[in-house]
Amino acid sequence: PKAGELILEARKVTRKFGGLVANNNMSLEVKAGEILALIGPNGAGKSTMFNQLSGVDTPTSGEVLFMGQPVAGKDSRDIARMGMSRTFQHVKLLPTMSVLENVAIGAHLRGDKGVLSSAWRLDRAEEARLLKEAARQIERVGLGEFMHAEAGSLALGQQRILEIARALCADPCLLLLDEPAAGLRHKEKQALGDLLRKLRGEGLATLIVEHDMDFVMNLVDRVVVMEFGQKIAEGLPDEIQKDPAVLEAYLGG
Ligand code: ADP
Ligand code: MG
Repeated sequence: PKAGELILEARKVTRKFGGLVANNNMSLEVKAGEILALIGPNGAGKSTMFNQLSGVDTPTSGEVLFMGQPVAGKDSRDIARMGMSRTFQHVKLLPTMSVLENVAIGAHLRGDKGVLSSAWRLDRAEEARLLKEAARQIERVGLGEFMHAEAGSLALGQQRILEIARALCADPCLLLLDEPAAGLRHKEKQALGDLLRKLRGEGLATLIVEHDMDFVMNLVDRVVVMEFGQKIAEGLPDEIQKDPAVLEAYLGG
């Protein structure tokens, strides 16, 4: 997609868990090549929203359009194949396997064959293709020197970047990152921010959930703010930082 084109659109997405309305009439848009932040206090419904967008969960009502096609309720692997890729709030790596293996396995699980039918039965050509793609993404995110290190031996910041390399296999046009900077040291946050800017320069759009306001406001193009499942503000980082409803949500929460 061309820069500025609408690639993801949530229309009045509602997700109820029994009596709890975790997402209430949530609408948002992501354009090709932009970084959009989804922020809000703990429990606001950000991760739930990611699950609705990425097919991990199905909205109670509302629509999600990705690349112009309705995807709400679709299998998350089908959505991934269309070009949307995500990471989860908690790191899911195989610590005793190498960086290369971690990314290659991720690439395989995102591929078009079923997990159960073929997970460990690759033919040589397919394995070579996956390893090549994995190595390419590892170089792309700047972890080339750790290609054969155990994933568990990397610093937390590098593990987060490794997860991004895994999500980048098959060249998505949209990346969803759930709190990628949580628990990172200042320098690690800087490295992560630099990587996300570089990927934006390559045309990748990113939707990011993040708590660290300095990190977010210096990185993103636009911000959507949630509280109690609803959107309470939307705008440029400078506008959002002065928005009374946003300040209230954070100070009150
Ligand atoms: P955030 O990511 O903004 O911190 P979440 O989306 O994780 O918030 O959660 C929003 C609300 O929905 C919380 O009250 C949470 O307890 C609830 N919730 C999330 N997932 C489920 C679930 N699978 N079942 C029941 N309640 C859930
Ligand atoms: Mg969350």
